[in-house]
Amino acid sequence: MARPAQLLLQYQRLVDRERVLRDDIERIESQLQSDPEVAALEERAAAAQAQQEATAARVRESDKAREDHRTRLRSREKELMSGRIRNPTELTQMSEEVQHMKSRFAEEEEAELQLMEEADAAEEALRAITAELQSARARAAAEAPGLQAELDELRSELAGIEAEKDQIWAEVPPAARTAFTRQRVQPAVAVVANNQCTACRVTVTSRGMQMLRQGDEIVHCENCGRILVLA
Ligand SMILES: [Zn+2]
Repeated sequence: MARPAQLLLQYQRLVDRERVLRDDIERIESQLQSDPEVAALEERAAAAQAQQEATAARVRESDKAREDHRTRLRSREKELMSGRIRNPTELTQMSEEVQHMKSRFAEEEEAELQLMEEADAAEEALRAITAELQSARARAAAEAPGLQAELDELRSELAGIEAEKDQIWAEVPPAARTAFTRQRVQPAVAVVANNQCTACRVTVTSRGMQMLRQGDEIVHCENCGRILVLA
């Protein structure tokens, strides 16, 4: 028959292991559900797509505006060359207007080149991020079976730990159970090594050591209050 404090130490170790297993299981489950790298790249790809669409739309708008201006410029030039306008003031005015339109047209052309460069850069960025996303997805898909196997293993270990925990707890005498569940300072059980409580480093009294060697009763550390157990 194992001593109560030893049982509690075993129980505490199982609780600790269970916590680690549950954290690992949760981490793998969430990774299988949504790979963090893939999720981050998906967000960046969506932003790159929006940027590409916006710049392409601006190029189209600029194209259309330039087409309108070109048509107007040509019709003005035609009018100017037609010889129908004879009034010198009117001719000068129209000639100035045509000059003005031409220079504005040149500026628009320059601006459109700039826009096209931006659109090309946005398209290139989208291509690069899409390729990166594809390889991240491939990597995640390749990792999934291994993660699933690891998950299965952890789940089965957890089931074993839970069963063992219940079994140990059933063996713990009622007084020791109460001492354990009432314990405020965590972890509740501390090992004694070299006559010291390993949790707080305070030396255990000789009376305490004597009781520990007998092992029938629960002994608390006089300093930190933890349940003591001999190493
Ligand atoms: Zn202590």
